[in-house]
Amino acid sequence: MGRKLLLDKAHIEGIRYYDTYRSNGGYTAAEKALKTLGPDGVLDEVKKSGLRGRGGAGFPTGMKWSFIAKPEGVPRYLVCNADESEPGTFKDRYLMEHIPHLLIEGLLISSFALGANSCYIYIRGEYAWIPEILEQAIAEAKNKGWLGKNILGTGYDLEIYVQRGAGAYICGEETALIESLEGKRGNPRIKPPFPAVKGLWQCPTVVNNVETLAAVVPIINIGGDEYIKFGTGKSTGTKLISACGNINKPGVYEIEMNISVEEFIFSDEYCGGIKNNKRLKACIPGGSSVPVLPANLLLKTAKGETRMMTYESLADGGFATGSMLGSGGFIVMDEDQCIVRNTLTFARFYHHESCGQCSPCREGTGWMKKVLHNIEYGKGKMSDIDLLWDIQRKIEGNTICPLGDAAAWPVAAAIRHFRDEFEWHVLNPDESQKRNYGIAHY
Ligand code: NAD
Ligand code: SF4
Repeated sequence: MGRKLLLDKAHIEGIRYYDTYRSNGGYTAAEKALKTLGPDGVLDEVKKSGLRGRGGAGFPTGMKWSFIAKPEGVPRYLVCNADESEPGTFKDRYLMEHIPHLLIEGLLISSFALGANSCYIYIRGEYAWIPEILEQAIAEAKNKGWLGKNILGTGYDLEIYVQRGAGAYICGEETALIESLEGKRGNPRIKPPFPAVKGLWQCPTVVNNVETLAAVVPIINIGGDEYIKFGTGKSTGTKLISACGNINKPGVYEIEMNISVEEFIFSDEYCGGIKNNKRLKACIPGGSSVPVLPANLLLKTAKGETRMMTYESLADGGFATGSMLGSGGFIVMDEDQCIVRNTLTFARFYHHESCGQCSPCREGTGWMKKVLHNIEYGKGKMSDIDLLWDIQRKIEGNTICPLGDAAAWPVAAAIRHFRDEFEWHVLNPDESQKRNYGIAHY
């Protein structure tokens, strides 16, 4: 059995509530941080732990925290990004629903380390029932003296606020989130300046994902040196993976980042193999924004090495033969799945969610959707495949925020690895149309 650091207590009845959380060791890390380590001590442990951002980018957390500007008299903020909207990703939801105090404790320690007296949880609008869970946990923590004024008699003050989003995927992009939090339309800002220098209300702000901030609790409890013993290389600690698609056991799993992709898919401890004894065809390992991998490149790298559930191994080969761990949204496809249809579904999503600020994204996502639609519905030409390739190339790297890249990469990977399926649709228009008869389209 893999060791757990985040969900080890999630099964305990009543762990959602303060008393049970506390009687099972909750808030000991906060006590240690505030009374013994101090802000610099917490930062040291987080740096030592090698913790990387769990939202998708994998940016080193300690480094991000150390970038925060500290001008005299200017407030600093911590923002918890709970706008989990990446298709296939539902790990933060699980964590907030089952063990909300782990997040609140993580926010307390992290805000303390950053010198922030206000902390915001920005939560996606569709998670309509979770703010209540979080607000109850915040009220309990405040009632017990873990929030508010002069926490544990240290002179440190902290308030945590929950802000609901309104259902826009783009508001998960950190600067769009900040705009939305300020009450404006969620349009991404150009970076730099990064939020660590100019963020919420132009003040220094750290934006971290839910899982990242929750992971600070075990790091403080066991120490950064122990934390790196979970995982391998630059993939330290444990990672929550939300697994879905054609597998026997979809769900949220906490893995040590030292197991192989094959073990994750086929062992009974995790996904339990492919449903109905079908063959594994492909997988998107890190949420819809990362490249799809065909089965052969998923289980082994192009060099023939075992593909591991780590940042490095999943990215091995670059986008030619690799992908990314991303947000840990693990979407498994069996032999019956149509890659063109799948790519069209994502293209439709990105077009719908584009904020429209930059032309390559605004126009390109719609154009890709139309071309993909034509191919999927038996109205495409061979030249459309090259046209698609050209469109995605012109989006990538030419936009304000990563949504443009996120829309381009899946299209590129689908053509790179499954060109024959695109060609099949073009060569078999009648079959394509028949297959899609009666299915709603855009
Ligand atoms: P990014 O690489 O631009 O930034 C990562 C983080 O590091 C940001 O917080 C950024 O401010 C900070 N940073 C980077 N360089 C910095 C510097 N020089 N100084 C200060 N701070 C610096 O990526 P991103 O836009 O934060 O995230 C993109 C990822 O988000 C994608 O890879 C995708 O996997 C993921 N994603 C996740 C979801 C979800 O629901 N979890 C949704 C959409 C996308
Ligand atoms: Fe908006 Fe797309 Fe440009 Fe991002 S890339 S700012 S979503 S138009």
